Amino acid sequence: MGKLLLKSVSTIDGKEVDILVTGNRISRISEHNAQEADRMGADRILDCRGKVAVPGFINMHTHTAMTMMRGVCEDEYLQNWLNIVWAIESRLSDEIIYWGTKLAILEMFKTGTTCFLDMYWRVPAAVRASEEMGIRAFHTYNFLDNFDAETIARQQRECIALFEESKKWPERVKMGVSVHSDYTVSEENLVWAKNFARENGLVYTSHLAETAAETHEDEVKFGMTPAQHFDKLGLLDERTILAHGVWLTPSDVKMLGERGVTVVHNINSNLKLSSGYKFKYCELRDAGVNVCLGTDGAASSNNLDMREAMKTMSLVQKAWREDPTVLPLCRLMEVATSNGARALGIDAGCIEEGSLADIALVDKRSEAFVPDFNFLGNFIFSANSSCFDTLIVDGNVVMENRKVAGEDEILENANRLLKETIKK
Ligand SMILES: [Zn+2]
Repeated sequence: MGKLLLKSVSTIDGKEVDILVTGNRISRISEHNAQEADRMGADRILDCRGKVAVPGFINMHTHTAMTMMRGVCEDEYLQNWLNIVWAIESRLSDEIIYWGTKLAILEMFKTGTTCFLDMYWRVPAAVRASEEMGIRAFHTYNFLDNFDAETIARQQRECIALFEESKKWPERVKMGVSVHSDYTVSEENLVWAKNFARENGLVYTSHLAETAAETHEDEVKFGMTPAQHFDKLGLLDERTILAHGVWLTPSDVKMLGERGVTVVHNINSNLKLSSGYKFKYCELRDAGVNVCLGTDGAASSNNLDMREAMKTMSLVQKAWREDPTVLPLCRLMEVATSNGARALGIDAGCIEEGSLADIALVDKRSEAFVPDFNFLGNFIFSANSSCFDTLIVDGNVVMENRKVAGEDEILENANRLLKETIKK
């Protein structure tokens, strides 16, 4: 097994340590000692003076290849936005998904993300992109049947076939199951997909309570909130991950806590589409819900930058609650890292011996980090994501000095496809 040594690297709380990575895990963290570091027998040594090791971000809700629709529809309501997006999606090809996913992963690497949970189409093409670029990924088979009987049956067959295929994927890339929402997916498939996920130990994810209109529609149609509807169908447990949850009622929050679900906040997307911003972070956390962070797709949030999402989440929580103490920086980091790992069932999201080596190195040599009263304060509020210098995923260096292998080719192909297909 290869050994990689991060020599003389700072921790978030300012200690200088040596971090040894053996294979894909962190095998040792010790106080920096030059002689001892030389004796560790590393195949590769990175001199990390001036850099801080932070856990790589886990983006818990995105639609990766929507990077190809970045900026496609500005200043519109969600429904108009969806109509434009769905029209383009009817022309998607494997090639667009492949290069769009690579474009997304390139952006994630540059902004410190080492793992993501994806909800999108043509999964094998996206998986190929994740495999080749070396990111940790959960790609979900996505149900969206519009209540059509033929589509309902076809999607079940496709999900089973994908699961068979997923057995050949590398350990780093896993399959999950997603349902778009209860306003686009039949009850039959909401339940079928959850049962399939349960039987095969897969995560299950959905959009839920994103807008007031959606919540109102469920009240008219089913006489209950979207969360109650999911609960009635038996869809909620520790392996269920709900994106948005902006419009949850106090009794929804209590019930979601009892079921032990995860809720993913996507603040930039919610703000931009005017879906709502009074996300009940404290109430959800106190009820026992695992709260995580996502960016949503680049067509709505325009980027996949988790550090920026953290900053917005913090500012908006402080603002609407009129309470600056509401979300301490170390808790905010957990929302963007270890909480996601917990939901996905992986040993990542923190830098400790035994955990997966998914590490971002932040270069402190810039004006944003001077003076150095509080590293996390500088990192989240002062810097921008160009502070990420090096990224390690599963023990492999996937970005060094902000360079990612093949990045020019990715930009060229994405631009070519934009002209050939998307803009047509
Ligand atoms: Zn979404």
